[in-house]
Amino acid sequence: EIKNVNDSYFGAYGSFGIHKEMISDKIRTDAYRDAITKNPSLLKHATVLDVGCGTGILSLFAAQAGALKVIAVEASEKMASVATQIAKDNGLLLEGNQAGDMEQPTGVISVVHGMVEELDNIIQAPPHSVDVLLSEWMGYCLLYESMLSSVLYARDRWLKPGGAILPDTATIFVAGFGRGGTSVPFWENVYGFDMSCIGKEVVEDASQNPIVDVVGSHDIVTDAVIIQTFDLVTMNQDEMDFTSTFELKLKSDLEPQTTQCCGIVLWFETAFTRRFCKETPTVLSTSPYGPKTHWSQTIFTFREPITMTSLKSSTDKAAPVGTARCPVTKLESRISIARSSQHRSIDISLETSGI
Ligand code: SAH
Repeated sequence: EIKNVNDSYFGAYGSFGIHKEMISDKIRTDAYRDAITKNPSLLKHATVLDVGCGTGILSLFAAQAGALKVIAVEASEKMASVATQIAKDNGLLLEGNQAGDMEQPTGVISVVHGMVEELDNIIQAPPHSVDVLLSEWMGYCLLYESMLSSVLYARDRWLKPGGAILPDTATIFVAGFGRGGTSVPFWENVYGFDMSCIGKEVVEDASQNPIVDVVGSHDIVTDAVIIQTFDLVTMNQDEMDFTSTFELKLKSDLEPQTTQCCGIVLWFETAFTRRFCKETPTVLSTSPYGPKTHWSQTIFTFREPITMTSLKSSTDKAAPVGTARCPVTKLESRISIARSSQHRSIDISLETSGI
């Protein structure tokens, strides 16, 4: 069962479309390039491990930055062979029998086909011999696909004490969104026809299954709050499953002061902080306030919208809480995110009430 899940997961990474999408996500790829190539005190002469190298793009940046040696591990057989070819075509592949020629240094990248968890059986290198661990492991909602556990495994097995992890922190944010964040307004008027019955079904479905889509910053109606911060240097595997409680209040600059909140949107940032990136600390953000990325945002729709207000207006105490006649001033929520046992997916539960 697990083997099959892995086969289809790594099989999917063997198609070039995904790699084109990731590499052309400029926010993503520029952040990694800057972190790797603009922090020479970290990368110069370093031994680097790239977990899940794909095309090898991060390893190529590391080689460009002056790394002494780059081990690029890739579980997809197709991508491992492509990455080897690419490193070679760019004169950056470490070719064993030419090593030692100081006038004409051969490349520094070795591509290894296999899962990073199996690296021990594939290469002859002592554990804890890596200065810098590189990986682009983030999925939708940060944790979908659970590749983070492979990065933590690689850290514990291969990183030197005090070695660097790029990125070294990850933070998950949430905020409430209004009607514009749903497809309800779209279906209300389609060339003058009322198709709102579709909108109702979409909302019903979206209250069961989160949607990956872009939310415009103008559709956000509450302040953003942090629900989880991971320190990749110190965290352990168990922290990937967590529960967080949080409160949302209407954005103070919002007009009008009473509005509907139709659900919450979740996004993440990863950072290459000053801890390791002394010259050029960098942040990769997937926020709705920033330029969009291929991760978009993750949207959780409430079954019923909740009316919120920032006004201390008199409310109709007999009316149901959270409705137009009795708006609430804040939302109290509890979210749990956990890896599902058999799959690469995650289980998320969200409970919200207005108070
Ligand atoms: N580093 C590349 C690709 C990132 S996508 C880039 O930034 O463009 C993640 C890659 O990691 C995929 O190619 C996937 O096949 C690989 N991967 C995922 N888990 C892995 C594991 N445990 N061991 C080795 N490779 C893995």
